[in-house]
Parts: sequence; C-alpha cells; structure tokens
Amino acid sequence: MTLDWLIIGGGIHGVHIAARLLDEAGVSREQLRIVDPGPRLLDRWRSCTETTGMTHLRSPSVHHLGTDHGALRRFAGKRKNRMPRRFVPPFERPSIGLFNEHCDQIEKKLGLAELHIRDRAVRCSTGCDDVAVELAGGEELRTRHLVLAMGCSDQPYRPAWASVDAARIQHVFEPGFNDWPTSPETVMVVGGGISAAHVVLRLLAEDHEVHHVSRHPIRQHQFDSDPGWLGVTYASRFIRTDDLEERRAMITEARHKGSVPPDLNRALRRALSRNQLQWHEGEVAELDTQHDGLRITLENGTELSVDRVLLATGFKTDRPGGTMIDELIESASLPCAQCGYPIVDSALRWHPQIHVTGPLAELELGPVSRNIAGARWAGDRIVDAVRCHSSNRTTAG
Ligand SMILES: Cc1cc2nc3c(=O)[nH]c(=O)nc-3n(C[C@H](O)[C@H](O)[C@H](O)COP(=O)(O)OP(=O)(O)OC[C@H]3O[C@@H](n4cnc5c(N)ncnc54)[C@H](O)[C@@H]3O)c2cc1C
Repeated sequence: MTLDWLIIGGGIHGVHIAARLLDEAGVSREQLRIVDPGPRLLDRWRSCTETTGMTHLRSPSVHHLGTDHGALRRFAGKRKNRMPRRFVPPFERPSIGLFNEHCDQIEKKLGLAELHIRDRAVRCSTGCDDVAVELAGGEELRTRHLVLAMGCSDQPYRPAWASVDAARIQHVFEPGFNDWPTSPETVMVVGGGISAAHVVLRLLAEDHEVHHVSRHPIRQHQFDSDPGWLGVTYASRFIRTDDLEERRAMITEARHKGSVPPDLNRALRRALSRNQLQWHEGEVAELDTQHDGLRITLENGTELSVDRVLLATGFKTDRPGGTMIDELIESASLPCAQCGYPIVDSALRWHPQIHVTGPLAELELGPVSRNIAGARWAGDRIVDAVRCHSSNRTTAG
C-alpha cells in the first residue's frame, strides 16, 4: 500500500504537521503515518524539558500544537481550578504541565498514537510519483508525500575535551539521561544558555555545590530571537533577500544563542550574590580524570576538582538527518545552499514529493523555524499547498 503522507520525526514539528494535515487538509487517518524511534510521540520534547526542570515555556500561549491560535487558552480555561500558574508573565507563557496536557489532548483527539510507527527511517529514495522509506527494522514504506521533520535533539553537542570518561561527563540531553546525583556532589555545569541555567538552579535546589562554566557572560533576552521575527516586517525582508548566504547570516545574527530570560538571569544573580554558586567565564583547557573525580583547568588557570561534569551545551548545528539525508541529496539531486541546508520553495517543498519543517526549513522560514512558532508556520505553508493542489484538481476535473 502507498500512503498519502509519511512524516519522519514525531517531535513538536512532526506532531503539529500531522494535526494540521488531518484537521485542516482533509487527509485521512488511514493515509498518514509518523515514524519516530521514541516509545511515544514527543518523547524527546518531554525528556529534554523534564531534564532541565523548567516549569514554563519560553514562548507565549499562542504557540502550541493545536490548529487554531486560541486552542491552548480555551483548554486552560477548563483547568483553571486544578492547575496553578497555568500562564506566567510576560507574554502569558504556559506551564510545561499545561502545554503537555494539551499535546496529550490533541494526540488523543486525532488518534495519533495509532499512527505512530516506532522505528527509525534509514534510507529514502524517490520514485516517479512516490518515495520509498526504509526503516531500521527492515520494513519499507511507500508514500506520495514525505515530510522531513527530524529536529536536532538526536545530536547533543559535546565539546572536544568532553569526549572522554562518559560516566562522569554527561550531556543532559543524551537520550535516556536520568543519572542525577542523589547525594551531595560537586558538579560543574557547562553552558551559557537557558538549559544550563535551569540545570544549575535545579542542582542548587537539591543542595549540590555547583560551578557554572560559560564561554561568555550571562546574556539576557526574553526570547531566543527578536520577537520582530514573528511579524511580517522582518519575515518579508528575509524572504525578499535572494542571496541564501545573506539569509544564513541574518539567521545567525537574529538568534540569541546562549541567552537566558530575565527571570532566570535574576535567579542566577541571586545565587551568585549569596555565594551559593561559583561562576567561571572561560573555556576548559585541561581535563584530568582521577580515580575519585575530575580535575579541570580552565584557560584562565583556575583549577577545579569536581565529582562530575554535566554538559548543557545544546545541540550540534549540523544539518539534521545524517547519512540518510546526505544520500537522499545525492540520489535525488536535491538543491542545498552553501551552508548545506535545503533550498525549498514557498510550500517548503524540496522535491515534488518531499516537504521539510524545523531546522531543514530555516532558509525559507527564518530564525524561528526551529521553534513552535516555526512548526505553525510550516503547517500553514504545507496545508495551503495541499488545499491549492486539491482545488486545482477539482477545477481541472
Ligand atoms: C529544553 C528545551 C526547551 C525548549 N523550549 C521552547 C519553548 O519554550 N518554545 C519554543 O518555541 N521552542 C522551544 N524549544 C525549541 C524547540 O521548539 C524544541 O527543540 C522542539 O522540540 C523542536 O521540535 P522538532 O520536532 O523540530 O525536533 P525534536 O524534538 O528533535 O523531534 C524530532 C524527532 O525526530 C526523530 N528522528 C530523528 N531522525 C529520525 C529518523 N531518521 N527516523 C525517525 N525519526 C527520527 C527524533 O528521534 C525526534 O523524536 C525548546 C528546546 C529545548 C531543548
């Protein structure tokens, strides 16, 4: 059987696109599947957010996985008595609990769990009017439309010095990581962004001694890119720029990488002023593993003895998809910009049968492409393309 739609990746993006196709584009459940290796959809989202201990999203309440903008607020209204702090200022940011319950409701309403194939796609090849997708388990699926929704969360970034002693140098976003210290320890947390800040505060709350190492001073920004990028002015300037290297430069400049919102900045500064936290700005120069811990020398000469290192250094910036996407580009001659990312049309089509979302769509959608807002924009573009295609067929018929 050939499916109508197959989505590779069951994260924020894959799930939202599935919801939009089923709810708004008239795609039937029998004709759509989502491939993702996780035990359940959104598994990486849930584990990464849970690891940090964050209580509220960084983004506002209109950014959620439902189809219409007010869906999360309406959903919250029904839970007002049993869920405290459902939204917090500024910008009415929803609590993780509320956001995730809303995701559960969408999954349940659309029966998405039954459409989830628990496997990893390992090879894609284009045919005349379909795409064959081979799974790690050996099965082959055929689909008329493929959506590539692999995010970056499968590729945590480890600095080169941290590639040794995996038992005592762990990345908090490593799939399956749950090895938090249970008795008081001295922990070095590496990273200068929101995840590192959350991890530091979590460890302090659990009475550990914490050294926070960042390459740069604390940078404060409410969002991870200027909110102007959510509006038409910035977005249309981006789209009017034909030079893709210039677009890449605009994305890089717009992103507030390694930044924390004001509430976390205040919490870190409070801990510093009370001498609860030790802050070090710089790079690790040397690491010496010893039988009872790690000895670390920073570039400025500071020496630290710690029980373990927790990396909160985010994800690699490489194009997601690894060799599967490398081979697809080669076999289907798919166009890529100098930075290696897809060149797609306004419907986010990389090939007549292949759409992209998330990081893979960022040269078309701009700096918010990876976020929940980006998933919503991708949903708009893909649904419009399906509707336009259906109405052209009706007119022609
Ligand atoms: C801690 C944290 C907090 C965040 N908070 C916010 C926020 O408040 N607001 C906001 O807008 N954004 C936020 N983000 C950014 C972004 O929205 C999330 O990273 C989001 O999870 C990205 O979704 P995704 O679907 O692109 O990727 P992912 O969550 O990475 O999901 C992709 C899925 O695809 C699967 N996959 C990969 N390759 C294959 C393959 N070959 N075959 C099958 N499946 C595959 C992966 O296993 C994964 O399950 C946050 C990110 C993090 C890490």
